[in-house]
Amino acid sequence: MFDWSTIEKIDAHMHLLPTEVHRTNPDMDNEFQYAKIALYFELMDRFNIKAAVIMPFNDPRLMSLDFNAEAVHRNLLQIKQQNAGKFYAFADLDPSHSLKESCRSLIDAVEKYDLNGLKLHPQNSGLEIDSPYHIELVKMAETLKLPVAIHSYPNRADSPDAAKKVANLVNRFPRVTFIVSHMGAFQWQEILDCPAYVDISAILPAYVQAFGTQGCQRILHAFGADRLIFASDFPCSRLLPSEAIFTSYFDILNSMDFSPDEARKIAAGNISSILKR
Ligand SMILES: [Zn+2]
Repeated sequence: MFDWSTIEKIDAHMHLLPTEVHRTNPDMDNEFQYAKIALYFELMDRFNIKAAVIMPFNDPRLMSLDFNAEAVHRNLLQIKQQNAGKFYAFADLDPSHSLKESCRSLIDAVEKYDLNGLKLHPQNSGLEIDSPYHIELVKMAETLKLPVAIHSYPNRADSPDAAKKVANLVNRFPRVTFIVSHMGAFQWQEILDCPAYVDISAILPAYVQAFGTQGCQRILHAFGADRLIFASDFPCSRLLPSEAIFTSYFDILNSMDFSPDEARKIAAGNISSILKR
């Protein structure tokens, strides 16, 4: 019997705020007060997380003091360099920029700032996931051979991150590697047949709450171990206090019937192969 809290893992979707942001906002009282490198290092040690992928928000005010994507990318590179081998990071998008500026920024994210993918967050940017703006950016990601992570936790069928719209975009780009973050939440069936990985961040406890352990397990198996990616969304959660996210995730995953081989793929194998491209 293996234990999810001790097997080697990569956390494929989490959040850190740069030190300069914490320094300027010392009295932060929301969940982002926990988005600190030193604190996350303790969790990495405690739970055998060998590396993590930092996701930006498509809202550059959160991850820089200059409030622009270039500054976010500079901060992300600095975090990667100061903690060699521990962090990967996906590129941000500034929706106030023209498409031309955002394409240039994505090229720089790879060539100048050594970032590992592109994050699209339609809820934060206000842009429809299948909008022409996103389509052109995904074309650029395809040219740059970058994986694309899409936030999809829609509340309604017509949400900008609705799973059906996400599936439309994914199906247009068979050569791009996509990760649908939060599995399309309660619209997961819409992405079941499209060729995308899914990360279990934010949604796992919500599935257990809504469908019970067995129901949650059925959904995960419907996608299968070749498509599932372990991710915490730390320190963010709709249901759990930040401190309880990892222990709760490992309790849930320990109650599922994944084989050791399947667990290795979900815990680290799938995201490793994506990041190596
Ligand atoms: Zn997130």
